[in-house]
Amino acid sequence: MFLWNGRLVQEDEIQVSYLDRGYYFGDGIYEVFRIYDGKLFEKQAHLNRLFQSLREVRITLPWSEAELSAMVDSLAETFGKKDGILYLQITRGAAKRSHLLPESAEPSMLGYCEEVVRPVEQLKKGINTITLDDERWHKCHIKSLNLLANTLARQEAADAGAEEAILVRDGRVTECTASNVMIVKKGVIITHPNGPLILDGITKQVVERLAKLSGIPYRNAGFTLEELMDADEVFVTSTTKEVMPVTMINGIKVGSGIPGVITQLLQHGFEQKFKPAAAAELLG
Ligand code: PMP
Repeated sequence: MFLWNGRLVQEDEIQVSYLDRGYYFGDGIYEVFRIYDGKLFEKQAHLNRLFQSLREVRITLPWSEAELSAMVDSLAETFGKKDGILYLQITRGAAKRSHLLPESAEPSMLGYCEEVVRPVEQLKKGINTITLDDERWHKCHIKSLNLLANTLARQEAADAGAEEAILVRDGRVTECTASNVMIVKKGVIITHPNGPLILDGITKQVVERLAKLSGIPYRNAGFTLEELMDADEVFVTSTTKEVMPVTMINGIKVGSGIPGVITQLLQHGFEQKFKPAAAAELLG
């Protein structure tokens, strides 16, 4: 089933106008929720970020947060698979093409679920990355549909045989095309501070909480390209990549070229968060 403007419908009931501003301006925002064991993971954090994005781009929904929350629950219930994502996008709606925001446009909302497989092999072995200039705008905290700079950078990484591009702005590492990035140096986790240059990732938030619980120092101090290349451990975080070790950057090994101990500790903690039943079993 699909969520279309507040109703659960079949795919053939979705009709998008050619005048939809999402179509010609990329004028909208989105969220990707993770479904583990049939349940939405960190739902409230995703809803908070969704409403924050909506406020930033001045889109007003005709539904309250509680109503939207109930809608995504209903959509997830129709999914019927254990592991997946719920994609939700909201555009400003259809209006005659003009750069000015239309006075009366009804937002268009589309949601659907899709099965995903955890990248188990990569989580064990780590991924290969390259660094690229961060050529995006200065409002990266908004989960905007405008992802051209991200998709082009991601393709450049793929063309170079890498799974992700680590973005660098004025010598400082911001994040990746679709994930946040953290380094570990002398036992301290360091990442870029929240603000307009990065997306405040939900997985990043979970990692920060896990680090605090485990007594691992965590600093939102940011780091340079040199510090990235000199790090003991590097990992990226996202809803689908989880806590993903980075073992290669620009053809150079990170540390000894295998996932580091703090990264593995965080991976373990993360798994326990979405698999509480399995963790309880392990703990006996
Ligand atoms: N940064 C960017 C640019 C992203 O697209 C994503 C993925 N949505 C992230 C960071 C990670 O965010 P999250 O952990 O919420 O998936």
